[in-house]
Amino acid sequence: MDRVGFIGLGKMGRPMASNLVRKGFPLVVFDVNPAPMRELEALGARAAASCAAVAAASDIVITMLPNSADVEDVLLGAGDVLARLRPGCAVMDMSTVDPLLTDRLAAAARDRGCVFVDAPVGRLASHAERGESLFMVGAADFAFARVKPLLEAMGTTIHHCGEAGAGIRTKLVNNYLAIVSCAFNAEALALSQRFGLALDKTLDVIHGTTATNGQLKIAWPAKVLKGDTEPGFTIDLAHKDLTLILDAANAVSVPMPIAAAARESFSAARGQGYGGRDFSAMADVLCDTVHVTRPRLG
Ligand code: NAD
Repeated sequence: MDRVGFIGLGKMGRPMASNLVRKGFPLVVFDVNPAPMRELEALGARAAASCAAVAAASDIVITMLPNSADVEDVLLGAGDVLARLRPGCAVMDMSTVDPLLTDRLAAAARDRGCVFVDAPVGRLASHAERGESLFMVGAADFAFARVKPLLEAMGTTIHHCGEAGAGIRTKLVNNYLAIVSCAFNAEALALSQRFGLALDKTLDVIHGTTATNGQLKIAWPAKVLKGDTEPGFTIDLAHKDLTLILDAANAVSVPMPIAAAARESFSAARGQGYGGRDFSAMADVLCDTVHVTRPRLG
């Protein structure tokens, strides 16, 4: 059985790594924050002293880090992971990053005789806790077969999207639709609140027409509309993803004016201090700005 290393034990990485240990994979973990390492140790994982120590002790290294700069630093920079992996080992980056970085990582891994897989995650931290994540995987067929048992231990839905790089590109397309809908839902609900409409009746109408979407129909009633804005997926991460989407679109000359406007709404929310709240809290941002009651059900 491959020995697995896991770097980045945050809101997503900690529960994903926990599911690997619970399902019997020998796991060595590292995070710059010691608290989640203690939790993983209690479940039976081994805590390493550094990223490089994870590389030395693993056949497959998984990264689940906040952004492109962190992933680059861990795999190619100070973390020195790729340089320490033996030929034949694999790296699976599950973070949401710039696809051009993914391409560079795949090439660097190939140069070392290693395998590279990108497998960003769909769904939320609550799904990761229950082992019900969705993965969008970019990998050669043989590499996909190698990581599939790990993905099955962490999630329920696995899409093999194509060669390395196809997973992260699929993720950006997915997140464009998921995140931008938070921005326009927020505008619609702020307008509804300003008009003094009954929220439950407005939603009733919208959910029966083509106006609805998954954020409004499924995600928000369980989060912001109940007054829960604990992250989750933060407004900071949504802003990061929209920036990745716009940069990636620019690089291939695809104009995305709606994404640009939505990104600026998230940017304004961050400037007003909401960056650490769940991205559904976009529903509150505009209402607070124009001093109308936050939308709440029941
Ligand atoms: P997070 O900030 O909660 O966790 C990141 C972890 O990485 C933290 O524990 C941090 O201490 C650690 N870390 C940072 N730099 C490090 C380094 N150099 N070495 C070791 N550890 C380091 O973020 P998250 O919400 O878990 O998101 C991780 C990735 O998954 C992001 O790219 C995000 O866009 C993506 N994602 C998040 C969600 C979600 O709902 N939160 C859903 C799907 C995808």
